[in-house]
Amino acid sequence: VSKTLVGSNLTEYDPETMDNLSRNFELEHDLRDAIANEQLFLVYQPKQQLKTRVIDSVEALARWHHPRLGPISPLEFVAIAEDTGQARTLGNSVLRQAVKQLEAWRQDGIELSIAVNISPAQIMHPDFVHDIEAALKLAPIDPGLLELEITESIMIGNHHHIAESVAEVRDLGVRVAIDDFGTGYSSLSYVRKFTLDTLKLDKSFISDLEHSSESTGIVDAILMLAHTLKLTVVAEGVETPGQMLILSTLGCDYIQGNLLSEPVSADQIERIATRVNTDALLTQK
Ligand code: C2E
Ligand code: MG
Ligand code: MG
Ligand code: MG
Repeated sequence: VSKTLVGSNLTEYDPETMDNLSRNFELEHDLRDAIANEQLFLVYQPKQQLKTRVIDSVEALARWHHPRLGPISPLEFVAIAEDTGQARTLGNSVLRQAVKQLEAWRQDGIELSIAVNISPAQIMHPDFVHDIEAALKLAPIDPGLLELEITESIMIGNHHHIAESVAEVRDLGVRVAIDDFGTGYSSLSYVRKFTLDTLKLDKSFISDLEHSSESTGIVDAILMLAHTLKLTVVAEGVETPGQMLILSTLGCDYIQGNLLSEPVSADQIERIATRVNTDALLTQK
């Protein structure tokens, strides 16, 4: 498309925008096939309980290696899925894979729970609760081993409908977490409207912990409020032993982040959990 061909002074030829447009076009088109052929796969990042040092849970994170464009960030392809009506199919593929992994661990006697991320359009879909139920029927797993992570921003819009869905999935025995807490309006009044199990403290607070007494104070206050509401608190994006120590002192329940491990395959999770949990048992004696 050249400027003369378009013939409008509104349309300047911008190679960067054209690149973005064709990239989006290609990704939109290929995402459909990628979901259908299960080319989207899950990696897992462990969470460690600070009191016992035990790893008993992981977060599942979706990955897509595009044949031509290489690894695509989930932030990018989840947004595309949302915009092109594919959020439900993407979400159900993630749920299926997580339940299959829970079943494999059940059969091997490995006690780990999995948290999966739920996108806005996925939870807004009228069949959302039904889809969760259907995923749980794929294997005889304990529903309590599945946790759904919902971002704070989802709860702010249309919260009545979502609060209802959250209550229904919790009735199935599934756990629910509020993700990236502190990035949105972070009003605890929203949190109170929902019956939740877990609060995930956004990594922006954690990265400031060692350098800002203000951040330490905020985290301390959030922990107090969360514990009053009987929520388990997970700190996201923990990268240094110093951050871990502060979180431990403040009484945070779990840490997650690259300090412990980056997101890895299920096989690697089994090795990490075995090593860390053996150490935890030995130091308790
Ligand atoms: P999230 O749910 O908040 O996930 C945590 C993100 O932080 C992950 O990025 C993880 O790799 C990254 N992370 C973990 N430890 C550290 C650390 O120590 N330092 C830093 N700087 N980052 C760390 P990732 O995997 O790129 O995912 C980004 C976001 O994409 C997720 O944020 C989540 O909102 C979304 N997402 C990922 N997988 C799925 C999925 O299956 N479904 C949906 N709906 N969203 C997903
Ligand atoms: Mg998450
Ligand atoms: Mg998060
Ligand atoms: Mg986050």
